[in-house]
Amino acid sequence: MVGPVSPPAQPLRPALSSLDPAQLGAWLAERGQAPYRVRQLKRHLAQGHAFEEMPDIPAALRTALAEEFRPHSLSLLREVSTDAALTTKRLYGLAGGYTVEAVIMRYQRRSTLCISSQVGCPIGCPFCATGQGPFGRNLAAHEIVDQAVDAARELAGEGRRLSHVVFMGMGEPLANYGAVLESVREIANPAGLGISPRRITVSTSGLIPRIEQLGQEGLPVTLAISLHAARDELRDVLVPINRKYPVAELVAAAQAFAASTGRRVSYEWVLLAGVNDTGRDAEELGRLLDHRHSHVNLIPFNPVDGTEYREPAPRDVRRFAEQVRARGLNVTVRDTRGRAGDAACGQLRARVLAETTAS
Ligand code: SF4
Repeated sequence: MVGPVSPPAQPLRPALSSLDPAQLGAWLAERGQAPYRVRQLKRHLAQGHAFEEMPDIPAALRTALAEEFRPHSLSLLREVSTDAALTTKRLYGLAGGYTVEAVIMRYQRRSTLCISSQVGCPIGCPFCATGQGPFGRNLAAHEIVDQAVDAARELAGEGRRLSHVVFMGMGEPLANYGAVLESVREIANPAGLGISPRRITVSTSGLIPRIEQLGQEGLPVTLAISLHAARDELRDVLVPINRKYPVAELVAAAQAFAASTGRRVSYEWVLLAGVNDTGRDAEELGRLLDHRHSHVNLIPFNPVDGTEYREPAPRDVRRFAEQVRARGLNVTVRDTRGRAGDAACGQLRARVLAETTAS
């Protein structure tokens, strides 16, 4: 179990955001409140409002709510801004003393939130800060949604709108399938944040049965595969779940998802100097993927303490991108946002945990 960063002095009140409409309706009915209050309260919660920011809710009801609940499930423990304040990384405390990170990235025409779905990650990729730590627990759906609510509120204060959500923070989203799916539906709910599923990306290290299940949900999210290697021998090391779900079967499942949903699949490739950035890797990747349904995202590695992996030189990133492009694939080199702010997933949390343990 991951230890608490700052354990609360007394147990936290439950989050009102954890109640589904039926539960909230029942709580309100017991207090003689009309059913339309559910809609009102849910709208306030989706806007990240505190109880005192709900003027259309009677004061006595707000007091009763505050005695029993806190509005949302997250408490902000640390915030780091980088890239001239275009990137904000936030560390949140959760019930039970657990912590997770979320990252807001602001661009000219969109604002993207990278969201966490688990405390730690059971996959254990050796180049990943999150994978180095112990696994804590799955997040509940409302704890995932509350990350988006908090980001949307922050952005609204800047005159921006949260436009995209990517499940690429801490955790393997498809290992927490039910909560992730529920949170995607809630984030897409037009009565709440209203972000189109097409602007929501769910990533996975390769849980094939869950990819197949996701393809049947009728939810047009973008699927991102954390690929990082195109041959089993290397991927067995970089993404250990590959020993259970080999790369050729994974890509077949991803292509079936693309065919059934009409959505192109994104393949993520963290470039590790001298490990997976060679001409051989580019050639294997070109052979593995169907160029019609694939997009390759190259992500130059952001060094993580305690790992042996290194960041490739910019010229090697360009060379690898060209080699992959020459094999007919669409390739983007992702910008390396937040380098100064522990940007790789799990780094801020790892630093705060280290500081806390040392003090
Ligand atoms: S890279 Fe992703 S799947 Fe791998 S350990 Fe990190 S969070 Fe988990």
